Amino acid sequence: MSLATAQGLYIHIPFCHQRCHFCAFYLEIHHARAADEFVTALLTELRLYGESGVLGPAPLDSIYFGGGTPTTLTSEQLTTILATSKQTFGLAPDAEVTIEAHPGSVSRDSLAQLRQAGCTRLSFGAESMDQTELDRVGRPGTPASTIHIIAVAREAGFTNINLDLMYGLPGQTLESWATSLRRTIELAPEHLSCYALTIEEGTHLKSAIQRGLVPAPDEDRQNRMEDLAEDILNGAGYARYEISNYCRPGFASRHNRLHWTGGHYLGVGPSAQSYIGGRRFGNVSDLTAYKAALRNARLPVAESDQLTQADDSCERLIFGLRLVDGISLKQTGALLFPELSREVDKLLADDLLERQGDLVRLTTRGRRYADTVAVSLMTSLNA
Ligand code: SF4
Repeated sequence: MSLATAQGLYIHIPFCHQRCHFCAFYLEIHHARAADEFVTALLTELRLYGESGVLGPAPLDSIYFGGGTPTTLTSEQLTTILATSKQTFGLAPDAEVTIEAHPGSVSRDSLAQLRQAGCTRLSFGAESMDQTELDRVGRPGTPASTIHIIAVAREAGFTNINLDLMYGLPGQTLESWATSLRRTIELAPEHLSCYALTIEEGTHLKSAIQRGLVPAPDEDRQNRMEDLAEDILNGAGYARYEISNYCRPGFASRHNRLHWTGGHYLGVGPSAQSYIGGRRFGNVSDLTAYKAALRNARLPVAESDQLTQADDSCERLIFGLRLVDGISLKQTGALLFPELSREVDKLLADDLLERQGDLVRLTTRGRRYADTVAVSLMTSLNA
């Protein structure tokens, strides 16, 4: 199966034990009863999609449990969801099955059970290896708990582990960021995601900045931190393969690649998004409404948009440009649309894109302006 037709399942678990100060995701604070009801609804959603044939007959190439914090559910609940997903859609023998976890929400036993159930990859939100930085953004957990849980995960048999880190945190310096990176590298994860802190509307952090209690992130310093991450991680044998993602050879995230290469993915759970056959659709971001729809055997889809071919090509191009190797113009279909083609030429002339045969990618300068490039491509179709 080519990457362009690969297909994956995203399962959104909408619970956390508390909300981090920077987080704007849809989520609920975990309660056992709400979690039980959610799992019942989710199993119904999987069954309805199985009956609908929405994904076609090929087995899944990846399953991704995201959130929220998926490991707020018990291992038994997660195992049931995984088994039902496999039965419903099939799973390729070499498929990637990722579960996001908070270091404090798993144990030796739960990780062993998840490995046994077929999870192949863990993604831990470490965010920083500096306790003061974690405290400043209301992030529960400690660097020591991250170090401990990686050792436990290895004992449980996990050979593919991602750690998420954030830069531009309040009070973070270039030196403390370098220290976090080095302490993370010592843990030898196969994959690292480094995200710039963004200040989202409605978050605790946004209001603290507005009240002058916390400084806003400094864009220049964040850019320097991004460059520093690339230098340090390259030096440690990690290759940057996407704007925010680094890996050891052979450990690029297959599920995320689906998003960047026009693969199909079905999202289940409140607020989950899907892209299948040029159609984007998304679930209602409300657990009560989600459960009510499924109690009535209705899919909880709140929005659906069949993209025009031009919009579909434009989106494929924008997502593909996130990959450091770039994307095949032919595969995106972008050159079939004169407005898009002209905009690509303009971005090439502006040194924001570079082209090698059929492959187009962001230049080093273009990577810094990836959002601006995306807006230029989108607006070219509406000009
Ligand atoms: S753990 Fe993740 S999803 Fe949960 S509140 Fe923190 S950032 Fe948001």
